[in-house]
Amino acid sequence: MNRDGNAHNLRLVSAKGRTTGDAGTPFDALAFVQSLSSSLELGTVLARLQEHLHAQVHHSGWFFILQESDETWSGGDEDRHRIEYGMSANGETMGSLILMRGRRFTDDEQQLIEALLGLAAPALANALRFKRLNENLETDELTGLGNRRAFEKQGAQWLADCRRQDRPMSVLAIDLDHFKQINDEYGHSVGDDILRLVAQTLRSTTRESDLCVRMGGEEFLAVLPGADLSRAMECAERIRLALASLRAGATAGDESTLQSNGSVKVTASIGVAGIGPNATLQSAYQAADEALYAAKRAGRNRVLAGN
Ligand code: GH3
Ligand code: MG
Ligand code: MG
Repeated sequence: MNRDGNAHNLRLVSAKGRTTGDAGTPFDALAFVQSLSSSLELGTVLARLQEHLHAQVHHSGWFFILQESDETWSGGDEDRHRIEYGMSANGETMGSLILMRGRRFTDDEQQLIEALLGLAAPALANALRFKRLNENLETDELTGLGNRRAFEKQGAQWLADCRRQDRPMSVLAIDLDHFKQINDEYGHSVGDDILRLVAQTLRSTTRESDLCVRMGGEEFLAVLPGADLSRAMECAERIRLALASLRAGATAGDESTLQSNGSVKVTASIGVAGIGPNATLQSAYQAADEALYAAKRAGRNRVLAGN
């Protein structure tokens, strides 16, 4: 897309001059930019962009696909005529916008759309930056899992969803056993490798719709929407077995490499709690944590359910 803002403005002035019909309602560029820039939330910015575009070209449906993650936003209905625009700002491609309609988009309309997208690009870029910032704040740097903040934010959303749909939800608290000894014996970087392997194992032994986070140190949490206590116990046991069969890192003193065929073993203790009708995310976490410490006291490398 043309990134020259002035050129877009010029086209807009002529577009605004048109009266009725295909060109849609008169266009107020300042109101348009203000309406988009007044939110930093990408979904909201896209929705506002669609409202304004719709007033001009009456498309029936749209998709926006974010380049970096393939995340997709959409609205309206699909139809047979489509036009696709690459959206970029400051030379960086942000994503593709696809508009759909039952009849062809005329050349004039396409020019108008391009001009509007040019004006919308800075607001979209800001929203994208805000989204990345929030994602970074919710990501654990070492393992790439979510962190405590992700647990609090996403966990609360999912708990509300499960309540609304009358589905169960459970929490697993997972703590590596005698991890200090592993660090002491093999060095901190082997310890870090183990933490990354544990993260991979958590991802591969849970569903994509489950949330696995590193709460800090060698403590992890898994939130399982849709799982009652017995399902969650099964999942915890699967995780425990998978972790116990990990063979990480190198021999003592070696520069570590992330590998699963080394000689360092690790086990974990896991506490499981279902989230009852009156429980909060925090109280379920606490119950899982208490069960975890009971599992430690009972000899480690085991799964226990909380109350
Ligand atoms: P327990 O079985 O009772 O849980 O024993 P533990 O040794 O695992 O527990 P403790 O809480 O005494 O020690 C946790 C250790 O985890 C201490 C610290 O060296 C290690 N640790 C915490 N964060 C990191 C990290 O980011 N990287 C590495 N390599 N080690 C970490
Ligand atoms: Mg520990
Ligand atoms: Mg610990």
